[in-house]
Amino acid sequence: MKAVITGATKGIGRAITELLAAQGFDLALCARTAADLDALAQQLRHAYPAIEVLTFAADLSQKEQVKAFAQYVCRTWSSLDVLVNNAGVFLPCNLSDTNNESAFEQMIHTNVMGVYYLTRDLLPLLHGQAGATIFNLCSVASFMPYGAYAVSKHALLGFSRALRDELKEQQIRVTAVMPGAVLTPSWAGTDLPESRFMQADDIAKSIWSVYQLSPQTVVEELILRPQLGDI
Ligand code: NAP
Repeated sequence: MKAVITGATKGIGRAITELLAAQGFDLALCARTAADLDALAQQLRHAYPAIEVLTFAADLSQKEQVKAFAQYVCRTWSSLDVLVNNAGVFLPCNLSDTNNESAFEQMIHTNVMGVYYLTRDLLPLLHGQAGATIFNLCSVASFMPYGAYAVSKHALLGFSRALRDELKEQQIRVTAVMPGAVLTPSWAGTDLPESRFMQADDIAKSIWSVYQLSPQTVVEELILRPQLGDI
């Protein structure tokens, strides 16, 4: 079994990476920071010597870098079982701010366009794999107002729904995962207690349970929240 995971070095992506490695998946991992990818690959190869770990440093907000990562995977593998579109950025800004154009553009390019280019280029590898699944890391901000970030996550939910419909007959499942607050490096500096957040491991476990359902069942949308509600 083979999985591609973006944003694999930290937070939710890392938890999913560690879970799929423990399940014996070969992994193709991407993030921007090459040193973090090297350290993660070394740790995984040591813990799970039977799996193949590919890494590729790319900024998924940049079309040419997304395409280079996809080409690397397509040159190396001829099939794929799981694609986890996890890499994403949250930059706090409001749509009405006058100086937020670049933050908004960065969120759209990373959280939406990068997912579109990568998914489209990797689709041929998913064809014909029983239970093939694409997981898109959306957010509760996919259906709630949450600044400019919410626009990118609404778009990603729309992308997931349209893709789910398109890929029905091709037996490729698409799941939009919509967590509330998860304690990851993206919350660095928060003074809220750990107990207000979900753990990244729980998101990974929920993805794994969804994947294990029989191929004739798809969980289209998955909402997860801290027990105490949204922050
Ligand atoms: P995180 O801790 O900030 O980690 C982000 C990961 O993505 C890192 O591995 C980072 O590595 C990589 N990354 C960021 N920008 C990238 C880019 N342009 N190209 C390639 N890789 C990139 O994030 P997280 O909190 O785990 O969130 C993961 C996903 O879940 C995101 O899509 C986020 O929107 C969504 N989400 C998070 C929460 C939450 O509360 N944490 C809630 C709902 C949804 P580099 O920095 O080295 O690139």
